[in-house]
Amino acid sequence: MFIGGKMRIAVIGSGYVGLVSAACFAEIGHKVISVDNDADKIAHLERGEVPIHEQHLPELIKRHHRKRLHFSTVIADAVRASEAIFITVGTPPSETGEADLSFVEAVASQIASAIDGRKVIIEKSTVPVRTCESLRKTLLLNGAPPDSFFVASNPEFLREGTAVLDFLYPDRIVAGVDDAFSSSLLQKIYAPLTSGSYYCGKNAVAGPDGCALKARLILTNAKSAELIKHASNAFLAMKISFINAVANISEAVGADVTEVCAGVGSDQRVGPRFLNPGIGYGGSCFPKDVRAFHTVATQCGCDFSLLTEVMKINEEQRRRFLQKVRSAVWTLRGKKLAVLGLAFKGGTDDVRESPAIAIIEALTKEGARIIAYDPVAMAKAKGQLAASQVTFASDPYEAATDCDALLILTEWKEFAELDLPRIRGLLKFPIIVDGRNLYEPNRVADAGLVYYSIGRAVAVPLAISSAVRVHPESPLDLVAAMAIRRQAVTAA
Ligand code: NAD
Repeated sequence: MFIGGKMRIAVIGSGYVGLVSAACFAEIGHKVISVDNDADKIAHLERGEVPIHEQHLPELIKRHHRKRLHFSTVIADAVRASEAIFITVGTPPSETGEADLSFVEAVASQIASAIDGRKVIIEKSTVPVRTCESLRKTLLLNGAPPDSFFVASNPEFLREGTAVLDFLYPDRIVAGVDDAFSSSLLQKIYAPLTSGSYYCGKNAVAGPDGCALKARLILTNAKSAELIKHASNAFLAMKISFINAVANISEAVGADVTEVCAGVGSDQRVGPRFLNPGIGYGGSCFPKDVRAFHTVATQCGCDFSLLTEVMKINEEQRRRFLQKVRSAVWTLRGKKLAVLGLAFKGGTDDVRESPAIAIIEALTKEGARIIAYDPVAMAKAKGQLAASQVTFASDPYEAATDCDALLILTEWKEFAELDLPRIRGLLKFPIIVDGRNLYEPNRVADAGLVYYSIGRAVAVPLAISSAVRVHPESPLDLVAAMAIRRQAVTAA
């Protein structure tokens, strides 16, 4: 069956996870059909147009398309042609907080009616624990012969923005299997990564580690694998909310959260990653997965109110940022604000549950006008934002022109490398409110800008603070100081 180690794989759902998985499975030598019921998306892919922004993805699709990688809208054909079928459709939140598994169910029923030999159906979408059981039942109910299939869980840990590298150079691969056949199949699929043979190939996508690397495969049962994914995301979200709460205390007492993070994160038991305070987590995974995991816990009779606090702090973080903007510019009605960053994080065009979008909506509700810029997410953001109050600029400098303040909402590298004196010259008032702590405060103040960030004191240029006695939390003091400074400059 496993001739030459090359496997025939169907990946159902060609979104961020499905498309990256399909391209990467082809890259490590397998024959892959990537299926989606969005005919438009498949037509774009057939023409060589990649519908998402993801580093390395266009080159992989170009390399393998029509050789080891094919696209289709027909699940039945893909199922018949494959021995492993990965489900990578969305599992969005329902109104109750539970994961909506209707896409998974719909796909399972179509797989069931097409099964024509022994198949392993593998859930890669993020799903609540016990979904493997429901998947098995659905396949049986829809006519799949009981001895024709196995069900396994192989949760995905890739991060948008670095998805290809995350897939090919994973911290770990989790295979949740309840039978030997699925275990052997999943081990063979990932063998090029776990044996390290892929990393030594001359065309391998260059990764962070050298040729000696062997990816780690963790074999568990299906339920444990399902729990690993939810618990991992909930833990990461908790780390973010934790450091955001610490940032707020830092601000209140006059400590510097960057120094606090460096001190806390250098303890190996804690580690420095995910200790970046900001405007809260967002995206298509953390918010929905924390909610879904909390619901799972409640349904199991377990009190996991820690997760309620994680969600509460995350919400509060956005409100605190809005308060910071108000404190910088006073009232919002009629103010023109430049916003840098629309995606939920840097490196992606994904605006699903983006804190930047939520903050823009709140600002416009209070009457502010927004001039926004994002290197790749503007097309997707346009669909979500009311055109009347948000316009889009072609670069950060155009966005800043004549604005009352500049807000940084996504941690794109180019936003950390702005020409600050130029920005100061373009803004109506020299104010930056940074929700991502991209700058060392004194550097911004030295460039003549008042700089608000998260968990650190407001940095005020010497020329302004010496003009009047400034209380940095008072916008009136700052505005007055800036006006005096401006008069002084004009008079000189
Ligand atoms: P997505 O919305 O980008 O993609 C889902 C795709 O499935 C869409 O293209 C949609 O058209 C397709 N689809 C829906 N119903 C279908 C059907 N019946 N037949 C064929 N195709 C169908 O979602 P995503 O971000 O790729 O996430 C997919 C899953 O992976 C989710 O469970 C998510 O939680 C999980 N996950 C996402 C990430 C991430 O960073 N995006 C990371 C790890 C895990």
